[in-house]
Amino acid sequence: MTGGPEHQPARPSWDCRACGRPWPCEPAQRELAGGHGRIALALVMWDHLEEAARDMPQTPPPELFDRFLRWTQ
Ligand SMILES: [Zn+2]
Repeated sequence: MTGGPEHQPARPSWDCRACGRPWPCEPAQRELAGGHGRIALALVMWDHLEEAARDMPQTPPPELFDRFLRWTQ
């Protein structure tokens, strides 16, 4: 551990706390994919998508789907 910020989403912007990119950034994706099977990963990301949709109601749902779920498939 480096003690730096982990690649977690800052709310309500959902930008990564560590690198500032839209979450899930690549390191976050690697970490999530490493810790879950494919089905569990999709369920976890679906939960995140629903929370993000509440935090960012102005963002079109297809955009959120691409961002949170498409990479898990
Ligand atoms: Zn990051």
